[in-house]
Amino acid sequence: MINLEQIYKDNKALLEGHFLLSSGKHSKYYLQSAKVLEDPKTAELLAKELAKKIKQSNLDVELVCSPALGGILAGYELARALGVRFIFAERVDKKMTIRRGFEIEPKQKVLICEDIITTGGSALEAADVIEKLGGEIVGFAAIANRGFCSITGSGKEQKKECKLPKNLPFFALGDFEFEIYDQDNCPMCKEGSTKAVKPGSRGN
Ligand code: ZN
Repeated sequence: MINLEQIYKDNKALLEGHFLLSSGKHSKYYLQSAKVLEDPKTAELLAKELAKKIKQSNLDVELVCSPALGGILAGYELARALGVRFIFAERVDKKMTIRRGFEIEPKQKVLICEDIITTGGSALEAADVIEKLGGEIVGFAAIANRGFCSITGSGKEQKKECKLPKNLPFFALGDFEFEIYDQDNCPMCKEGSTKAVKPGSRGN
């Protein structure tokens, strides 16, 4: 079994400090999954582990689709590990769309893959587009989960923020649960020696 937290730390993808997230909330930790996936060997290792879980569940997957941009590396490696085709969905004028000549066969069994699932909003939008084009969503996958959604088999309860449908499986390699605070309640702000900094564009 892999130690996901250690892999994130080793790749400087789990940062500790005082961060201002795109939501306006403050956090002591910040995940930068692109840093984990920048080494193809690590990406391959993680995707193989995820593929193993999916195969063990006997889920029939014919195609992997990721929402751009964050999900693409994880989804591509997962598709390789599962031996299936990969496509991605992207936003055009804020609307999730399938472009670039990507095709979905009628009733094709599609797994949606992200790097990290927070509430699953983008993953769900990608799933909606696939369904409108005639595909069938069979499940969701991510390298890591922020603890709002419940990994199938974990026994943990899904929080109200999670947007993934409860009737479909969700595969991930582990949970990263940490508190986020309003500025008024932020212990780092109260402590006073640091100011919250913006680490990336979207806080994931
Ligand atoms: Zn703060």
